[in-house]
Amino acid sequence: MSSFAIEQIQEQMRQLKLVRTAEQLPLLLQDASKAEVSYSEFLAELLGRELAAKQERHTAMKTTMARFPFQKSLESFDFKFQPSIEPKIVRELATGRFLADADNVLLLGPPGVGKTHLAVALGLRACALGFRTAFITAAGLIASLTRAHNENRLEEKLKLLVQPKLLIIDEIGYLPLERLGANLFFQLVSRRYERGSILITSNQSLAGWGQVFGDQVIATAILDRLLHHSTIINIKGESYRLKEKRKAGLLTRSEPYTAPEGPAPPEHPPTAP
Ligand code: ADP
Ligand code: MG
Repeated sequence: MSSFAIEQIQEQMRQLKLVRTAEQLPLLLQDASKAEVSYSEFLAELLGRELAAKQERHTAMKTTMARFPFQKSLESFDFKFQPSIEPKIVRELATGRFLADADNVLLLGPPGVGKTHLAVALGLRACALGFRTAFITAAGLIASLTRAHNENRLEEKLKLLVQPKLLIIDEIGYLPLERLGANLFFQLVSRRYERGSILITSNQSLAGWGQVFGDQVIATAILDRLLHHSTIINIKGESYRLKEKRKAGLLTRSEPYTAPEGPAPPEHPPTAP
């Protein structure tokens, strides 16, 4: 085939937005004629590559839109270090079935045990599976809801926050909420109920949520909706950060870990969606 003919096909492919295939066409044609593949095999290979490239682009776009604080995978999570987590349950979540059913996930445990790591890893899986995802800290979320409420555009904001199939809310419980914040959070949970999944990480056990929301009634109403269809993972182990410090010789094994008194400062600066 003349190089002019190939260039013409490449131009047509670009017009059809088959960008990756257009780039690879000369090489693909060369390989196909060397390996003497059939027309149908050649076409299958070409379309397969284009589909894979499209999928990759969609995942990358969803990942950017999700605004993760960092990227960590399930593969890099050391389950042996944290035996209170059943890998089977996390593997089930990684299939994304909970997203299709709009079920919720609660990751509870003390600081450093991998809650945010797992939340991000599951979020990245959700993006790869094609689900729209958003990551926000609890502090960032409440600030953004309160601003919207004060500026009379709460409805608009709630509509936006219902759109992602997975909403990850990191670090509930580090800061107690004011009455308005708790109320706005309740409204969000009600809106998303049975429509889209919420994944929450918290350093507080569920029994402590009354204090976090400053009101037992509202905490119960929130938990009622969150827990109706949900997976709860209670992480009971040691902080991974401390293990790393120990390895570096900064702590001795006999030095026990004691949780700081009162709420710890948030680990990631609040981000507005
Ligand atoms: P948490 O949100 O529970 O406070 P993080 O998820 O921020 O904890 O974990 C703290 C650090 O330790 C992160 O860098 C995280 O990647 C790492 N980490 C925690 N647990 C594990 C684990 N079991 N395997 C690998 N890395 C871990
Ligand atoms: Mg965290």
